[in-house]
Amino acid sequence: MGTTISRKALRDRGIVIPSVECPLCAIEVETMEHLFFNCPVAIDVWALVVRWLSVQPVNVRDIGDLFDWLDSTNLNAKKRKVTEAVVATTLWMLWRYRNDVVYEGDADDGFKSI
Ligand SMILES: [Zn+2]
Repeated sequence: MGTTISRKALRDRGIVIPSVECPLCAIEVETMEHLFFNCPVAIDVWALVVRWLSVQPVNVRDIGDLFDWLDSTNLNAKKRKVTEAVVATTLWMLWRYRNDVVYEGDADDGFKSI
């Protein structure tokens, strides 16, 4: 996530943008933590992912919590690699969905396939 730039980060760097609100929920300011972990859309997606992986759900609020959660799962090496791949893919899909909404106005069918 080192190269992803939220709307708030752009505004903080002096770039004029029409809105800093999250394009997915339009409730909060878009930060990386909000977009990937605290947005209602992200929360719903992570709930599905955790259920699909059959792992214990936890309250992940940022990337540090995510790594702490991965470390706490005590998964064997094979399942850990699968879980990491699913987590990385989920983060990427959330970012891609956000970009689809921002640049394509495609808010209706982003996660229908999940
Ligand atoms: Zn949101």
